[in-house]
Amino acid sequence: MEHTLVIIKPDAVERNLIGQIIDTYERNDLKVIQMNMMKPTLEQVQKHYSEHQGKYFYDRLVKYLTSGDVVVLLLEGKRAIERVRKLNGKTNPQESEEGTLRKRFGIDHTRNSVHASDSEEKVAYEVEIWLAKY
Ligand code: ADP
Ligand code: MG
Repeated sequence: MEHTLVIIKPDAVERNLIGQIIDTYERNDLKVIQMNMMKPTLEQVQKHYSEHQGKYFYDRLVKYLTSGDVVVLLLEGKRAIERVRKLNGKTNPQESEEGTLRKRFGIDHTRNSVHASDSEEKVAYEVEIWLAKY
């Protein structure tokens, strides 16, 4: 069993999509083992996206992530990291495969509805930022 961290981003929370997104994970044998709703602080978002600092979309990204509430999920399942990234779809919703969460719900390249960790190291790094205890 593997753990991965998901963030349901402000565009999705704002449009009442929390339930449909969690439903998609649960139907795919991913178990919600922690959940936290909050308005992210600037510090949390800067740390979370430190790898993108300096890129042309960075300021837009930080502003967007701090603009409203998010829901942070810790999911558990077989090959959870890889499978959740696949369920989410490509970063740009327009390029995402049919049926993926970003294709279904994403608005544009920035407002793409969901985040998921991309490695075991990132799961640990992100849990430290977003969840009080692991
Ligand atoms: P992913 O979330 O698929 O791992 P990245 O780590 O590359 O994608 O980027 C982090 C987030 O930054 C994306 O989910 C998206 O919200 C935003 N983003 C990435 N690339 C762009 C871009 N070219 N233009 C606008 N926003 C972007
Ligand atoms: Mg990423």
